[in-house]
Amino acid sequence: MTAIPPEPGADELQCSAKDCRADAVWALRWNNPKIHTPERRKVWLACGGHRASLSAFLDRRGFLRDVVPVADRDLPAASQGASDPA
Ligand SMILES: [Zn+2]
Repeated sequence: MTAIPPEPGADELQCSAKDCRADAVWALRWNNPKIHTPERRKVWLACGGHRASLSAFLDRRGFLRDVVPVADRDLPAASQGASDPA
């Protein structure tokens, strides 16, 4: 029998909040200048309900760089000055 390993795909994306197993909707991209090079991006995933609390956590520490739809998490950082209607 051949076991097919599960492919990490969109279905595997889960909110990074503690004890939350909801599907991630947002990718919070952040950087800790004390330990990361400036172009490095760490990514936290958030469901709709945790986007605000997780981004606030990162923002308080000055780590948050941008929040993008989870499908765009690997795209290069958005160009500066892009307007966000939300
Ligand atoms: Zn969540």
